Amino acid sequence: MSSSLDVCTFLERAAEALELNEDVREVLRHPKRSVAASINVRMGDGSLQTFPAWRTIYSNALGPAKGGIRFHPSVDAEEVNTLAFLMTFKTALAGLPFGGGKGGVAVDPGDLSRHELERVARGYVRALRHDLGVGRDVPAPDVNTNGTVLAWMADELAALEGTAQTASITGKPIVLGGIEGRTEATGRGAAKVVMALKDHLELSDDASFAIQGFGNAGAQFANDMHEAGFRIVALSDSSGAVFSADGLDPREAERYKAKTGGLKGFADDVADNDLRRVDADVLVPAALGGWIDGKNADHVAARVVVEVSNQACTVEGADRLTERGVHVVPDILANSGGVSVSYLEWVQNRSGEQMGRDKVFADLDARMERMAHAVSSRAMRDDTDLRSAAYRIAVSRIAEAIESMGTRRLFNE
Ligand code: NAD
Repeated sequence: MSSSLDVCTFLERAAEALELNEDVREVLRHPKRSVAASINVRMGDGSLQTFPAWRTIYSNALGPAKGGIRFHPSVDAEEVNTLAFLMTFKTALAGLPFGGGKGGVAVDPGDLSRHELERVARGYVRALRHDLGVGRDVPAPDVNTNGTVLAWMADELAALEGTAQTASITGKPIVLGGIEGRTEATGRGAAKVVMALKDHLELSDDASFAIQGFGNAGAQFANDMHEAGFRIVALSDSSGAVFSADGLDPREAERYKAKTGGLKGFADDVADNDLRRVDADVLVPAALGGWIDGKNADHVAARVVVEVSNQACTVEGADRLTERGVHVVPDILANSGGVSVSYLEWVQNRSGEQMGRDKVFADLDARMERMAHAVSSRAMRDDTDLRSAAYRIAVSRIAEAIESMGTRRLFNE
């Protein structure tokens, strides 16, 4: 049976190239476990509201599921399954002992008081407690959730289980067992990947970058690339998009944004706020997914796209860019710095040993460089694009785990 998820196209292509066992393909086409729940919350005005919630373990072939929990009004079961699918191949590519999971609540946190938000977070854990845990499924923050939300969740799980649940949830505040460097990890990891792929992507020393989404990951990426001598020519956030051919200083942009609340007015406006058309060597989507699709992929002026946001390109968008000869550094490689440091948090919580920032960054940098070189070598060896190469490496690892538990060959008597 085929999967209903668009992203499964990437899996099917890798499976075809690897001549993968049909049993393994069938296992990987479907989420292993997908749970829907309703969270009832007593609101500040005394009324009762219900919020739909989901948690998916897409695969746990390589270890407990790992993936964030998103609070957003547009979250639904399909989005959660898609993001859990991406986590599965991301953790496998990074060589982490995790499967892939994801969770979400259809809620706009902007509509909630702090107390109501806490009740949603605690309600999520009460609804899904039997699915969560250190060896089962280990959540982390995602869009609109942060250390505080995850601390409430860890506390609720600890109260229900009667034991500390430090290693059951990552992205916690440092004082509660969180890890140094997690905030910088995704942007820093993406910058390391781009630098390691500089030759593969044929980037000059002063290549120019346009970054959509100057938030946590986008701002860190911009800072690291700027410090490495590259030119940041355009930046955007939800307030607008700004451009300077001579280059923008991301630290100054951060200070401006902290003062005014947004980037608008920091430099010249970009026409229609559309960064896709900006004259830059590299375009970096770092806001929400689906920004480059089959309709607008032809507008992309850059010759390299780095997917810091998950599924920044739809399948059609990605195919169109590849047809046009644009290199795409895929999300499962570019943004895996976050989960790589979450893994270190999990290790730290299980071992009891505290890890300092230097050790975390040394491990992160080495892992990102190793991964980037492995994907680049595979792409050259197979004469294919970076996404196909990344999926082939990830799928091979998961397939080996599934096959080692027995496939048709073993059962055909
Ligand atoms: P964030 O909320 O800190 O930043 C998002 C930024 O995007 C904000 O500055 C916001 O103003 C901007 N934005 C929103 N809509 C926009 C639009 N239409 N045009 C331009 N800018 C817009 O989020 P983040 O943590 O930096 O994550 C960014 C993306 O990276 C998300 O897709 C997330 O899933 C992905 N990601 C993040 C991490 C992580 O560790 N932070 C890890 C893996 C993947």
